[in-house]
Amino acid sequence: MINLKNRLEEIVKQGKLKPNEPLAQYTTLKIGGPAEFFIETNQPQELSALWKLHNHSQVPTKIIGGGSNLLFKDAGFSGVIIKLSNAEYQLDHSQQLPVVTFPAGYSSHLASLKVLELGYSGFEGLHGLPGTIGGAIYMNSKWPKEHFQTADNLISVDYLNSEGELITVLKPALRFAYGYSSFQEKNWLILSAKFAFRPEEVAEIKRRYTNVLNYRRTTQPIGVKTAGCVFKNITPEEQSQNNLPTASVGYLIDQCGLKGMQIGQMAVSVVHANFFVNLGQATAQEYQKLVQIVRQAVKTKFKIDLKEEVDFVE
Ligand SMILES: Cc1cc2nc3c(=O)[nH]c(=O)nc-3n(C[C@H](O)[C@H](O)[C@H](O)COP(=O)(O)OP(=O)(O)OC[C@H]3O[C@@H](n4cnc5c(N)ncnc54)[C@H](O)[C@@H]3O)c2cc1C
Repeated sequence: MINLKNRLEEIVKQGKLKPNEPLAQYTTLKIGGPAEFFIETNQPQELSALWKLHNHSQVPTKIIGGGSNLLFKDAGFSGVIIKLSNAEYQLDHSQQLPVVTFPAGYSSHLASLKVLELGYSGFEGLHGLPGTIGGAIYMNSKWPKEHFQTADNLISVDYLNSEGELITVLKPALRFAYGYSSFQEKNWLILSAKFAFRPEEVAEIKRRYTNVLNYRRTTQPIGVKTAGCVFKNITPEEQSQNNLPTASVGYLIDQCGLKGMQIGQMAVSVVHANFFVNLGQATAQEYQKLVQIVRQAVKTKFKIDLKEEVDFVE
């Protein structure tokens, strides 16, 4: 452990790992104290060395993509934060359908625009989605309106295992569900993902993109500090078992009269009650207090335990 810490400190001296880097700036909630060590990279060798170090030591390590589904503690993070930076996409026409490889640090929204530019459909649900391809795979980010899930067009993922080795896994060997991927149960670092797309008339794809964006603009708070949905929506089974009027958690929270409820500078959005908004300098503690209050209110009124969607980094 001490040797590994020394090694990290050596890398710090080389200027690659920054000490005491404030994390709030790397998350859309704009909350979080400093990381003990921070590195932004897309270099496979660097990532492999760090990942191996992490797995062979007790140095806690966390990956950030776009930070749009993450909450860091006010005290920050003791260990190493790895932020995946952007890299180039690759296009392969040699397959039956066009295949595009996106690096994990590629912005999901920009990936949707790239796919549109190439004249392919299949990334409509990523249009307007904050964050990166790595985060979207990890969360299997979804667009429930069109029943889209990130894994829909997935062929394979390249990742680093705990030995820092590069492995390619085909989609059938992974599990994906609503807001879930096998990556949530593994200690793997996603490097890139391959997707197959279908050529389609650009005007038609554009029409669907516009619908997604319009729906986002009318139903979600825009231009605010938020991490999107705080709680996972309810499954159809939970809805029928509990005799709930809807599977939309936003609606249930609204029915508890909690829209606009505020703890310190953290508030339940008045636009979408499943979004919490940092009104200024909110803290992680305020966020969690609000989570507790909302969860308890929904449990009392609807007898259902809400599950958190935002990843709270201990
Ligand atoms: C305004 C707003 C709207 C949103 N709308 C939606 C929506 O419509 N649908 C939806 O599903 N979500 C939505 N979200 C939530 C969020 O944007 C998505 O979950 C997004 O895909 C997360 O990507 P990210 O890169 O920001 O992940 P991060 O927040 O950076 O990370 C999320 C998790 O993934 C892990 N991770 C990230 N990259 C990697 C990697 N390369 N390898 C291994 N693990 C990794 C992180 O460690 C963390 O545990 C919204 C959020 C906001 C702020």
